[in-house]
Amino acid sequence: MPSVAIIGAGAAGCFCAAELRRRAPELSVTLLEAASKPLAKVAITGGGRCNLTNSFEGIRSLSEAYPRGERIMKRALQVFSQKDTVEWFQSRGVPLVLQPDHCWFPQSQDAQDIVRCLLRAVKGTDLRLNSRVDNVQALLQSYDFVVVTTGGAPKGLPFLEGLGLELIPPVPSLFTFTIPDPALRSLMGLVVEASIGLAGTSFKAEGPLLITDWGLSGPATLKLSSYAARHLAESGYKGTVTVNWLDANEAQARELLQETASQNPQKQISTTHLLQSRLWNHLLAKAGLRPDIRWAELGSKGLNRLVAVLTADSYPLTGKSKFREEFVTAGGVALSNINPNTLECKQHPGLYFAGEVLDLDAITGGFNLQAAWSTGYVCAQSIVNSL
Ligand SMILES: Cc1cc2nc3c(=O)[nH]c(=O)nc-3n(C[C@H](O)[C@H](O)[C@H](O)COP(=O)(O)OP(=O)(O)OC[C@H]3O[C@@H](n4cnc5c(N)ncnc54)[C@H](O)[C@@H]3O)c2cc1C
Repeated sequence: MPSVAIIGAGAAGCFCAAELRRRAPELSVTLLEAASKPLAKVAITGGGRCNLTNSFEGIRSLSEAYPRGERIMKRALQVFSQKDTVEWFQSRGVPLVLQPDHCWFPQSQDAQDIVRCLLRAVKGTDLRLNSRVDNVQALLQSYDFVVVTTGGAPKGLPFLEGLGLELIPPVPSLFTFTIPDPALRSLMGLVVEASIGLAGTSFKAEGPLLITDWGLSGPATLKLSSYAARHLAESGYKGTVTVNWLDANEAQARELLQETASQNPQKQISTTHLLQSRLWNHLLAKAGLRPDIRWAELGSKGLNRLVAVLTADSYPLTGKSKFREEFVTAGGVALSNINPNTLECKQHPGLYFAGEVLDLDAITGGFNLQAAWSTGYVCAQSIVNSL
């Protein structure tokens, strides 16, 4: 009887094991898990609610969701898509709901429902807890197939040593920005639809931007941290964050201001809020405009300064902070080592990789777990096809 060892009983490992059980119950499947519990991370995903996938609505190009691993995900999603994920869990007795922000959650809002469903699906596999693997090469001698699903590895992948694989150094992704600007921080709690970028680079992200007591957070910041993860690591998390508060270009902003001025010439600028009042007054101050100035008195210099501050405001970035401890690791096993159709290692037949151990990670919104399900599925399918 052919044997499979899966290293790591997390999202990708359990999904792969479940699919192997379903497709080839005769296979001997051993799940080796370092921790004392399987699926410990899945249990805390989405703040304990588990945002297990996304409808992908509004995603124009897969690289928007997967800054690393876009090509491999394109193929993996063709085999096992977000719709398949929804169907997989619902058909196993876990009703799901789609939120207006395109994120899918269990209807119960309880990640344990996902954990229990996966544990039911892996019944029949030999699940060995407290079993850390420190040498994959040794396992390859004892099993016909080995699937590595050990997740993000901020400290590297020592157990892969000796296999001659290219490894991409790990760096964190999905973090918030520390901005030491008391005036900005005093606006803590404000959420604005904006677009932010890093000065001197082409990295940009748009979406809700949350001002916090340490700087900037919210989906736009997390997205930018993901897109620029490696660049920011190299620059020591220092630089200049640019904010376009109107998410409009300079010409559009100018037109909006000129129109407002012509409609309200005698009104004080500070009482005609084009943004939330606290933010508007902060930006007027940054543009050096007196709050009692009237629109008719703005002048072309004042207009230029206001346009600049609304569309290209800038703040010093001095560090990163965690987003409620929710982060993923960029880097891992280089995709150049992997056959993108089967996820088998090119150098070692019978060795497969799935999930975050690969140099594959996503922005927030359920895309990371979708990557674990899709790649776990592809590994199971490839193994069964090769029997
Ligand atoms: C707090 C938090 C919240 C998150 N929320 C979401 C969310 O809502 N939606 C989303 O899409 N993504 C979320 N993510 C990201 C998501 O959880 C991961 O991308 C996903 O779990 C990766 O799946 P994986 O199977 O590759 O790794 P994991 O789920 O991390 O599993 C890897 C497993 O391998 C085991 N292991 C590691 N090394 C060894 C070894 N040498 N031997 C044996 N076992 C080993 C680990 O103990 C672990 O159980 C969140 C992440 C965090 C940290």
